[in-house]
Amino acid sequence: MAELYPVNETFLSWQGEGVHLGRKAFFIRLQGCPVKCAWCDSASTWHPQFVPKLVRKASADELAAEALASRPEFVVLTGGEPCIHDLTPLMASMASASLKVHLETCGAYPIASGFAWVTVSPKWAKPPISAALARADEVKLIVEDPQSIARWTEAVGGAWSAPNVWLHPEWSQRANPLVLKAITEQVKEAGAPYRAGWQVHKPYAADTLDPRSRPSAPLGGDPSKGF
Ligand code: SF4
Repeated sequence: MAELYPVNETFLSWQGEGVHLGRKAFFIRLQGCPVKCAWCDSASTWHPQFVPKLVRKASADELAAEALASRPEFVVLTGGEPCIHDLTPLMASMASASLKVHLETCGAYPIASGFAWVTVSPKWAKPPISAALARADEVKLIVEDPQSIARWTEAVGGAWSAPNVWLHPEWSQRANPLVLKAITEQVKEAGAPYRAGWQVHKPYAADTLDPRSRPSAPLGGDPSKGF
């Protein structure tokens, strides 16, 4: 029997972050994540309080056909944590449909072959494996406090070779002047590969314009929310 993937949502939008910012993309957000970050912005993929009552199950071919119908420049496979699933059948269906697939992962799990682009955004609760950091085309560090950049650079800085290491304010801290200053100072001090980043799709509300998208369920860095 064909593998069925648990799907949190699919939608057509544009990539709101990183090197491919602003490009037309079809998003597939798979259900499930064991990492459980306090500031997760897609808690409906894992948090008991926010998971949908019914989770769609879709085959690899079904997802590829749905993506193809939107004629995207590429598909973004995200989560949750997509790499907890066996992605080999999905990648085969995407390849048959001549669709390029970009991956967004925390890097704690092995990465299937065939991705056109890999973004690794490491998380403290489950740190990245060196093979994932070595595969990353770009790294995205979530800057939750002014010390985050130094902590990540010390922990795994030697393991990435990506030419772009994005520094994104954790979204609930996006107006925190100390977090923004830390990002600015890091870029001014070190230059490449560090780059100041932002989740541009959020102020646009770009993803929510597709009725297939699910209302966001951000935890906002609040540990009392029960992860
Ligand atoms: S931010 Fe990503 S890695 Fe962390 S809990 Fe949410 S989906 Fe999982």
